[in-house]
Amino acid sequence: MKKVTYPSGKTYEYDENAPCIICGLPVVEASMGGTVICPWCDCGNYRNGTKFTLEEEVNHDLIKKRAREKLDRPANNDTMGVKDGG
Ligand SMILES: [Zn+2]
Repeated sequence: MKKVTYPSGKTYEYDENAPCIICGLPVVEASMGGTVICPWCDCGNYRNGTKFTLEEEVNHDLIKKRAREKLDRPANNDTMGVKDGG
């Protein structure tokens, strides 16, 4: 178990091995989004740095399916020709 203190001053205890509600991987660290959302998902990224697509942002099942694959795949091999207008 770990503890996190938010700017509000409230401290929460959480299980760092509990699955993130978005990607399903262990949360590791609490994010500003809460103790059940990992810091990567809180920023809209996979753990290899790839941004979630709009489709994925509204369909967390897709993220759960893809999150594990992305762990082993560097972001620069994962663009699939999609250009982000940024
Ligand atoms: Zn996550």
